[in-house]
Amino acid sequence: MLNLPIYLDYSATTPCDPEVVTEMLPYFTQYFGNASSKVHPFGWQAEAAVAQARERVATLINAQSREIVFTSGATEACNLAIRGVWELYAKKGNHFIISKTEHKAVLDTCKILEKKGACVTYLDVNSSGQIQVEDLMKAFRPDTILVCIMLANNETGVIQPVKEIGLLCKQHQVLFFCDATQAVGKIPVNVEEMEIDLICCSSHKIYGPKGVGALYIRSRNPRVKLSPQITGGGQEDGVRSGTLNVPGIVGFGKACDICGNRMKEESEKMNRMLNKLRQGILEIPGTVINGHPKDYLPSILNVSFERLNSTLLLSALKSKIAVSTGSACTSGSLEPSYVLTAMHVDRNKAKSSLRFSLGRFTTEEEIDFVIKELGHIVNQLRDG
Ligand SMILES: *Cc1c(COP(=O)(O)O)cnc(C)c1O
Repeated sequence: MLNLPIYLDYSATTPCDPEVVTEMLPYFTQYFGNASSKVHPFGWQAEAAVAQARERVATLINAQSREIVFTSGATEACNLAIRGVWELYAKKGNHFIISKTEHKAVLDTCKILEKKGACVTYLDVNSSGQIQVEDLMKAFRPDTILVCIMLANNETGVIQPVKEIGLLCKQHQVLFFCDATQAVGKIPVNVEEMEIDLICCSSHKIYGPKGVGALYIRSRNPRVKLSPQITGGGQEDGVRSGTLNVPGIVGFGKACDICGNRMKEESEKMNRMLNKLRQGILEIPGTVINGHPKDYLPSILNVSFERLNSTLLLSALKSKIAVSTGSACTSGSLEPSYVLTAMHVDRNKAKSSLRFSLGRFTTEEEIDFVIKELGHIVNQLRDG
């Protein structure tokens, strides 16, 4: 028997893995110490747990644990990276290069800095959702201080040519910040191979608890420094003050460990299910996939349903299939997605799109049901 509604919105958030919860529980009651208390065992236990979690997060992206700063999530990590670079590298320059399809945590932060005098170049993407490396090459200026390009898009799953971007940034001696929130834990992410200087990720997108994330800050070649955005007790090497969320951090660490151990089998399984879903949906007349033909995450499928609109579809589906239009932040708005608009998807098609995102607990049976149900509902809506 299937449990309804079926959850296909894993890119918005994921349930905690039960193993993660088990690992976290003692840190609420038994090992409740403040990780900054250096003078008794309560503090030492918490500190040791945080150290292990830091190591686990670092391992997942091939970083060193001292390069990981814990935050309240990817949004905070984006803010710390962008504002932190802007303030500390003011002498070098004032120019950012970002893509038009970044998450709002990056876009809106850059927009605010623009109002404060920063200069931002917004790179176009092609109809497959990728930036053109030649455009980036032309965008560099002597006063460029940061390039912000995400690894995988949260609405379409499209993966950017990050290795080439990293290499170009290195050649131009410009820092490279990559929002890898959707990619970490699902595909291999390697800060050395990809030549990334700053990476953010989030626990609740990878079966960990909400309210925890991390920023990777490169410690050599080059050594990156950031101006702190939250000041106080000097935790996290002074980069991010505030008492550490020990249970959350422990859960995040465990979530990273599980993702790293199971990445190969999980991504193969998810790819199989995504292919099945894609083929099934394409058999419904008037459907178009929005994305790249080969560079995409195994977890996300973005589809336009011609002659329908997303709001209508969502409300017809909601009791059986929990999906979304792409970003939790703008769902409910009547404007077409800025990500699809940047990909030159025409307005009507953009307004008829849904994002299906699969995860660890998705089953073949669920995919079969979704394909069948979707066919019915789309036909019904078009007839009515
Ligand atoms: C979810 C998400 C964020 C924000 O992460 P939070 O931890 O929820 O703040 C940022 N960027 C991308 C690409 C995301 O998918």
